[in-house]
Amino acid sequence: MNKDALAKSRVFEKANATKIERAIPNSLKREETRIASKIRNSNKSPIEKLVFLYQFMDSIYSCMAKYIPCHAGCDHCCHYNVTISQIEIAYIEQQSKIAHAPFLRIKSNHHDGSPCPFLKNSQCEIYKCRPFVCRRFASLAATSDWCRIEICNQGNHVLFRFSKIDEAYECIVGQLSLATLVDIREAFPFGMLPVNYRC
Ligand code: SF4
Repeated sequence: MNKDALAKSRVFEKANATKIERAIPNSLKREETRIASKIRNSNKSPIEKLVFLYQFMDSIYSCMAKYIPCHAGCDHCCHYNVTISQIEIAYIEQQSKIAHAPFLRIKSNHHDGSPCPFLKNSQCEIYKCRPFVCRRFASLAATSDWCRIEICNQGNHVLFRFSKIDEAYECIVGQLSLATLVDIREAFPFGMLPVNYRC
């Protein structure tokens, strides 16, 4: 890792975080402070709550789009661990009609560069119902090079966090014993996926 390049990137990331902070409308910021309690107090089903959270995340992350290097065709983070909960598995099943496999290992470590089984030709085949963790990550660097698996854990990058979005997610997966976490590769192993599907 080039320390000078990392230091330079951190300066860029901090400045970028400020730009993003300004780009998000106050109405959305206010909504974010309420999202966890809204979900906690809602009578919706867990999947409906998850969809509600995803829709809110879409609106807030769309304000960040022009400042971040995350774009269709970039798949670095699809080679990281992709930890999902039972409710996200249920949502993927509902939307893609693919049944999950029995879990073999809980919280296994896939930070070895192996791709997510839903990654095809650098595109996410389940983009509309992709898990929370895939929606939450956003690099603030000028380039996605820093997301490469070989260097992503080296150095301390600036990240944007929405604490109430995280709390809302915890609130959904904490309900009805839905919190069992597993890597997406365990729930939907490569060999089990049909040839044609999309959600
Ligand atoms: S679900 Fe989609 S976005 Fe998430 S890691 Fe897999 S291919 Fe990438």
